[in-house]
Amino acid sequence: MGTLPEYFESMVFDDRVMKATLSAGVYRSLKKTIDEGAQLDESVANAVAAAMKDWAVSKGATHYTHWFQPLTGVTAEKHDSFISPSPDGGVIMEFSGKELIKGEPDASSFPSGGLRATFEARGYTAWDPTSYAFIKGKTLCIPTAFCSYGGEALDKKTPLLRSMEALNRQALRILRLFGNTGVKCVRTSVGPEQEYFLITREMYDKRRDLRFTGRTLFGARPPKGQEMDDHYFGVIKPRVEAYMQELNEELWKLGILAKTEHNEVAPAQHELAPIYTTTNIATDHNQLTMEIMQKVAARHGLVCLLHEKPFAGVNGSGKHNNWSIATDTGVNLLSPGETPYENAQFLLFLCAVIQAVDDYQDLLRLSVATAGNDHRLGANEAPPAVVSIFLGDELNAVLEAIEEDLPYQGAEKTQMKLGVDVLPRFNRDTTDRNRTSPFAFTGNKFEFRMVGSSNSIACANIMLNSAVAESLRLYADRLEQAKDFAGELHEMIREVIRKHKRIIFNGNGYDESWIKEAVEKRGLCNYRTTPDCMPHLLDEKNVRMLTAHGVYSEAELRSRCDIMLENYCKTVRIEAGTMVDMARTEILPAVESYAASLAKAAAAKKALAASIACNYETTLVSRLSALADQIYERAAELEDALTALESAGDILEESAAIRDTVLEKMRALRLACDQAETVTAKDYWPFPTYGDLLFGVN
Ligand code: ADP
Ligand code: MG
Repeated sequence: MGTLPEYFESMVFDDRVMKATLSAGVYRSLKKTIDEGAQLDESVANAVAAAMKDWAVSKGATHYTHWFQPLTGVTAEKHDSFISPSPDGGVIMEFSGKELIKGEPDASSFPSGGLRATFEARGYTAWDPTSYAFIKGKTLCIPTAFCSYGGEALDKKTPLLRSMEALNRQALRILRLFGNTGVKCVRTSVGPEQEYFLITREMYDKRRDLRFTGRTLFGARPPKGQEMDDHYFGVIKPRVEAYMQELNEELWKLGILAKTEHNEVAPAQHELAPIYTTTNIATDHNQLTMEIMQKVAARHGLVCLLHEKPFAGVNGSGKHNNWSIATDTGVNLLSPGETPYENAQFLLFLCAVIQAVDDYQDLLRLSVATAGNDHRLGANEAPPAVVSIFLGDELNAVLEAIEEDLPYQGAEKTQMKLGVDVLPRFNRDTTDRNRTSPFAFTGNKFEFRMVGSSNSIACANIMLNSAVAESLRLYADRLEQAKDFAGELHEMIREVIRKHKRIIFNGNGYDESWIKEAVEKRGLCNYRTTPDCMPHLLDEKNVRMLTAHGVYSEAELRSRCDIMLENYCKTVRIEAGTMVDMARTEILPAVESYAASLAKAAAAKKALAASIACNYETTLVSRLSALADQIYERAAELEDALTALESAGDILEESAAIRDTVLEKMRALRLACDQAETVTAKDYWPFPTYGDLLFGVN
């Protein structure tokens, strides 16, 4: 395959390939579109399409697809071949600018939340030239946005691009106020760290819960779990090593900079971190990464579980969304600078994030809300459902000094006067201690830790970008009017700190007393479940902000709220149905036949000699019988609760009923089944246990 530099990005129509295959004029036009969002004209599109096709064909591609991210959470593609009949009877490979720019997939089966009546089946996909096309298998994949004919977004990329544009607009206003005229564009970057589990294919196939829902719905705690902490950063097993090696190679070919990999806290859990890149590309890359993780696993006889909580009792998986704001001139606006002037600018952007997270904590919470992630947040393995910011002692002291006009008691013990003093350097070492915070400053970026492992990172970043754009808009409105810029800036920053410091919390986020304080003293939101938070998407302040920045239309917001709740309901209904089914057709027969075999053994012994007591068999048979009765009853109760959902008036009511009744009945059924597992002979148990699954890959 050659060396890494040779095959890195070899399957991507990247800048190098564009430069080499396009004429200078076409290349320049395309660059202008990519860098500055300029319109692309048809002749340029045709030239790009032709070059793309020739390149793809030379790499063995026969098909192309508009690759997009519908609201289902996975990516979608519909393959068309390049082949056209040629006049002389053979075939030629064709691909026009029109086909590159626009596609019309039959989209009637993608969720639209009522935006596109199903009889009006066609939406269209539109090329996103800011994300490079790539080859997967034999198909040229063209990253696209997906819209209805009315122009409403039916995907996650469109609002993400809009939110990046909103932040760019407002950040440029701020930079101009600081006298910065050189910057053309401000973008956010993201490095998402991805956690996952690997189990063997053989065991996966034997568990219907894993196959139907991606997580185990039953399973007693194994004698050994994660209590020894011996897996975390431990030696990687050869089979996993081989998997990671191939995964890296596949990702590198697509230009995805997978960089670090290590074992995570739970047994069988691992993590992959890429090098950060522009947010929309990072989002595309993360979708691809999840897909390729699963594909490569299949080649190794493994299954990659991306669910947030595949196993009860051991840590679940998340995705740490490392996020920063940078200029096209390479300046990270969340990095404290070398000069007082740069520091004032840094503090303004820092305040913008603090205010954004405080004002829109509900949006951040709901951007990560799914049935799967509800199991994780607040379970002492992931941040609580209460959003707060960790700044670290040093930065916190700086903000306090500014707020109180007091000397900063840092290394230099200087008076903090904005625009005059140099801020201390905030080393990552002094800030990255707190792993319990939902939103932590880590030296020159923020790490949003609430994102679920299977979530697209698009939603979180849409809300983050938009909320920060809104803070910046407020600041720009105010500062543009100011007569004394420095004085006004200083005053404004003090005000923001005073008003929004309630969102800053540097202690232990897992502490029960924190949740109490957050809710009761600080008035922060604590939305524990998806049905609790999702309806707030339509709160007036949120609709106003998101529509004002052009990120969503009101109709789009309504449809998204519906789709997310629908998703929640469907997920739990499938889980509950699977549980009833497994309990009745697998677990009960197993318990029953084990009890029968015990009874038979006891009877045989008694026949041998009536004096044999058979205490063991008798006790166990009655215990198993009692559990079987419980399982039988609880399965029926769960089934009734599911049936009752049918009378729910709307999706809001249905999701609330699931939260309040179905989940509880699922827990009850599981409890009885898990107890039965601990007293049933292993040979009788119908599927692999937690111990088998978690320690099965060698
Ligand atoms: P940690 O140990 O805090 O998890 P790492 O150095 O391993 O930090 O980086 C974690 C992730 O953060 C990586 O994906 C990395 O590329 C990303 N990252 C680093 N710097 C930035 C930045 N300025 N903006 C966004 N992401 C970043
Ligand atoms: Mg991290």
